[in-house]
Amino acid sequence: MSERDGDVAGIPVTRRMPKTPIEEIGGRKLKPATLMMGHGYDPELSEGSLKPPIFLTSTFAFENAAAGKRFFEGITGKRPGGSDGLVYSRFNGPNQEILEDRLSVWDEAEDALVFSSGMSAITTVLLANVNQGDVVVHSGPLYAATETLINKILGRFGVTFMDFPAGAAPSEVAVMLEQAKAQAAANGGKVAIIYLESPANPTNALVDIEGVADARNQVFGKDAGPPIAIDNTFLGPLWQQPLKHGADIVIYSLTKYVGGHSDLVAGGVLGSKAHMDPIRAIRNTIGTICDPNTAWMLMRSLETLELRMTRAGENAEKVCAFLRNHPKVDGLGYLGFIEDDRQKDIYRRHCSGAGSTFSVFIKGGEAEAFRFLDTMKIAKLAVSLGGTETLASLPAAMTHLSVPDERRATLGITDNLVRISIGVEDPDDLIADFDQALAAV
Ligand SMILES: *Cc1c(COP(=O)(O)O)cnc(C)c1O
Repeated sequence: MSERDGDVAGIPVTRRMPKTPIEEIGGRKLKPATLMMGHGYDPELSEGSLKPPIFLTSTFAFENAAAGKRFFEGITGKRPGGSDGLVYSRFNGPNQEILEDRLSVWDEAEDALVFSSGMSAITTVLLANVNQGDVVVHSGPLYAATETLINKILGRFGVTFMDFPAGAAPSEVAVMLEQAKAQAAANGGKVAIIYLESPANPTNALVDIEGVADARNQVFGKDAGPPIAIDNTFLGPLWQQPLKHGADIVIYSLTKYVGGHSDLVAGGVLGSKAHMDPIRAIRNTIGTICDPNTAWMLMRSLETLELRMTRAGENAEKVCAFLRNHPKVDGLGYLGFIEDDRQKDIYRRHCSGAGSTFSVFIKGGEAEAFRFLDTMKIAKLAVSLGGTETLASLPAAMTHLSVPDERRATLGITDNLVRISIGVEDPDDLIADFDQALAAV
């Protein structure tokens, strides 16, 4: 529950911040891992319940008509920053608001919004920012459904796009932005948004967020250009915090590391209040907010986020060290072992950890990769990532099957590229599993 003005002109505000928002002790600012246990929730407002109850209700009673009017001023955008009170569950709810407060802690974002899925978050961000005639400039590759949304669905409404490869130099991005500006002018629109995804799935190619921000400022002038949005699902919020590198809007599929247990689907968007307000307005209209039960589960997940991600990252490092020199392995797409100088430089400037999602090239082709996948015992054969359990999949035959052969080849998504998401199991057990599966190839 975000900050309230308190009682205004005799209108009771239905929710308040916790009475004693403990965010520091003796001048020491508390770390996110500590804040996840209580931030934004006051048990006194819920019968002393240590954990927030799940508020299963479609609507909220106003104490008087003036309060209802004031709350609606926030819903309709007459007053910025969201509503001062609870109104209707398509707009807001206690579980979602506490979750939003906790989620913003990690990225040190001013504001956050939660959604029913990563894709509904991305869709709502784009609907809030693009109009007919506009151009979307994006890095490539993107999550397949995001590419479909930008290239096909928005295209039906007169929106065009241009894309640059993930590792592009700032000068290349600047050239593309100039072209996009000209194209937008010809179409009677503007360059609406710069949309990034880093690392890219499944190759782990990194985007130079700082370089893209420099290129944007150079082409449009400081604070005058389109917002930079980035899908930070693979490394955030622990290992990459794009708001600190020039991004304006950070997007998550909370289904992955933040949810972390492969038992829910949700999304999140973070940034300044100025960037969140128009996105919140679209969410209010179309109803892409996540439900209270999912919000509650995400709060439980956030309590162990740092533990889980840290362990998964350590496990991945050990497994990759084992795979690195294995005779049946033809290469690794792991951020801990980058060889390319440009990618290494981007990593050093943006990332604090290599994550636990990587690709391993099995010597041979599809048959060998199939054999490897079918022999794994601990690792489950499933798409998705960021859960407590280790998952393995074959992008060329699964998540990227719909990508045309030529584009797959350009992106380096070969028939022997296995994508792995390492979980929090015992690392030696995982290595034993990889060992026996490779032996069967
Ligand atoms: C999974 C994923 C999405 C989509 O999220 P959903 O929660 O499945 O809608 C978007 N971007 C990336 C990078 C993802 O991994």
